[in-house]
Amino acid sequence: MTREQVEVAVVGGGPVGLMLASELALGGVKVAVYERRKERVAQSRALSVHPRTLEILALRGLEQRFLARGKSLSTGHYAALDTRLDFSVLDTTFPYSLFIPQTLTEALLEERAREVGVALHRGHRVSGLWQDAEGVRLEGEREGGTFQVRARYVVGADGARSVVRSLAGISFPGTDVTTTQMLGDVILAEPPPRPVMSHTSLSGGAMLVPLGDGVHHRIVVVSPGRQHVPLSEPVTLEELAGAVREVVGTDFGMHSPAWLSRFGNETRHASRYREGRVFLVGDAAHIHMPAGGQGLNVGLQDAMNLGWKLAGVMRGLAPTSLLDSYHHERHPVGARLIQNTLSQTALMTHFNPAGMALRDTFCALLTQPHVNRMFAEQISAFDVAYPPPPLTAPEGLKVEPAVSGTRLADQPLRCEGGATRSLYSLLHEGKWLLLRRPASARLELPAPWSGWTTQLTAELSREVPGLDAWSSLLVRPDGHLGYVSH
Ligand SMILES: Cc1cc2nc3c(=O)[nH]c(=O)nc-3n(C[C@H](O)[C@H](O)[C@H](O)COP(=O)(O)OP(=O)(O)OC[C@H]3O[C@@H](n4cnc5c(N)ncnc54)[C@H](O)[C@@H]3O)c2cc1C
Repeated sequence: MTREQVEVAVVGGGPVGLMLASELALGGVKVAVYERRKERVAQSRALSVHPRTLEILALRGLEQRFLARGKSLSTGHYAALDTRLDFSVLDTTFPYSLFIPQTLTEALLEERAREVGVALHRGHRVSGLWQDAEGVRLEGEREGGTFQVRARYVVGADGARSVVRSLAGISFPGTDVTTTQMLGDVILAEPPPRPVMSHTSLSGGAMLVPLGDGVHHRIVVVSPGRQHVPLSEPVTLEELAGAVREVVGTDFGMHSPAWLSRFGNETRHASRYREGRVFLVGDAAHIHMPAGGQGLNVGLQDAMNLGWKLAGVMRGLAPTSLLDSYHHERHPVGARLIQNTLSQTALMTHFNPAGMALRDTFCALLTQPHVNRMFAEQISAFDVAYPPPPLTAPEGLKVEPAVSGTRLADQPLRCEGGATRSLYSLLHEGKWLLLRRPASARLELPAPWSGWTTQLTAELSREVPGLDAWSSLLVRPDGHLGYVSH
């Protein structure tokens, strides 16, 4: 048996575990990831990375790696409705979805994790967890033996069937699979003229998007006659092509599948995101029908929320009570994710006149600009605002109810001396940012804030809605506004 001691152990080296581990390492934490697979999976479940996720990547200076490898599309979808969501109206540097296969996302996140010093142990399956007042012990199997890890905290990023979640005694209430869909990553001899296509009628629903590798397309199809086929039944190319022909009238000459799969609408939400020294992030905390392309995005945003808090506590910069805010801030976001994917499931799986009428009603509603914006903000996670964190604000700064907790869009800052810096570039180190307006009274940050905060005198170049007459802003490491002084 090998024995190791780390400050934080992350179980699961999928995208969310890798992101969280990188955030911890950036914050100076000794962190190791234990991943049961020896190699990354070749198939990509997720294809779309939404605007807020691109922003959190930009908050750490990582966005260019992703933008260089993906393709942007200024629209998204809600329940594969014909009226698409218009992301171009969003107030962001990234008013689009990035199409990038999950394999690439994971490769880029692994590259980042290694750069910041994360120890990634592949071929390590965790199977035991015990916690006490000082820490957590993990045990598991690796090739040729077993391993044991002692850590101060453990994060379960081990996906839908999370072992960490069950060993920590966290319940996962929800609903079982009642409807299934088929997916195929295939080559099309006769691709449709438009790159993204969706079609729904009484005969079923189909969506088609390019996979981004220049070769394959992804086809997702749900047909009334096959939507109760169990997940355990493998999909064949004939079954997929037949279902697509029934729905669209052609199978686009599909051949040479790289991946065929069936997925369902099992929907569950962890009752708690924290149990003592154990946390849950990503699919370990929430699963749902993959509608609107949100699971990976919300998981990466969970990781962004927990990372700086846990690093701050580990470095003695914040009280342990800050850790409770992870559940308080992210559990409601998970609940809304569950709610919107259930609503989309209802719209996507009822192939009868009532179901079609409901879709038509939604399509008409989405032509209204404010409705479209509301749904675009929901799917892209721009509607997320947090309550004030349980920290004592430094003297002179306070919570400003109208704006504290809201996400700040990136914007150029005009610094003293005439230079310009982007707001997000000042958060690359994962610290708080104190922005002082030129000519405002100087505000001295006491320890531990001073050791955890980048300070700059600069002027915003654009107004922040709801924020007037400020003299200093303290911005959270995840780009949400913390405290304000006037
Ligand atoms: C068809 C489909 C399409 C999707 N499309 C999108 C999309 O477009 N956009 C989007 O945002 N999301 C999408 N998703 C959802 C997305 O794929 C998941 O939400 C995402 O993979 C979750 O990441 P994760 O790191 O939390 O979990 P996972 O990716 O499941 O990673 C968990 C990791 O933990 C490891 N592990 C498990 N148990 C153990 C153990 N005991 N010990 C050690 N390691 C362990 C696993 O091997 C795995 O590597 C889609 C999902 C499906 C099924």
